[in-house]
Amino acid sequence: MKLSNLFGALVVLSLVLLGVARAQRDFSNVEIKSTPVSGNIHMLEGSGGNIGVSVGVDGLLIVDDQFAPLADKIEAALARLDQGNLKFVLNTHWHGDHTGGNAHFGRNASIVAHTNVRKRLVEADRTPKEGLPVITFDRSLSLQFNEEEIKVIHLPSGHTDGAAPYVMPESGCLRESQIEIEIGSALVSKYGSLRFFKLHYTDLVS
Ligand SMILES: [Zn+2]
Repeated sequence: MKLSNLFGALVVLSLVLLGVARAQRDFSNVEIKSTPVSGNIHMLEGSGGNIGVSVGVDGLLIVDDQFAPLADKIEAALARLDQGNLKFVLNTHWHGDHTGGNAHFGRNASIVAHTNVRKRLVEADRTPKEGLPVITFDRSLSLQFNEEEIKVIHLPSGHTDGAAPYVMPESGCLRESQIEIEIGSALVSKYGSLRFFKLHYTDLVS
């Protein structure tokens, strides 16, 4: 076998192995940890992007919902905050560690996301109808929930083409979409989002 062919075979093999590893990912030992953050806002940690939770008189709102196999555990953690009152699911972007629970929670709650998040989830074609956003925005959106305004603005050339951070100014919380602003210049230049974020962040929180 020529060296280039061997290298090609190894790359294909490693991709296959990666696929097998992903398919066999075991979530049985993942526990969902709930932490009060500030004001109405709590945070759930399990596996995948952390979940922001607004708890109050209007019920529950979550930002992102991690991987699909964790949905029952997340629901149990939410029930400890407010039984059966999930009204909205907001997605920061379409990746599966942020939208995997959509199909589960979208049966009763309304999913909100940027237009491109819905587009990518439709293209992914494993997303059932109840897992798709029913309210979409192109540039920005404002939501009144639990006596505070939740603001979101689209972040062009962010982590994905539908990336959007959500800000809860009253509670002083930001649930971002892996903007990586604090991590370093390599990622920032890769996603090209820092300048835009700096330009618009003051609009968002003011
Ligand atoms: Zn992602």
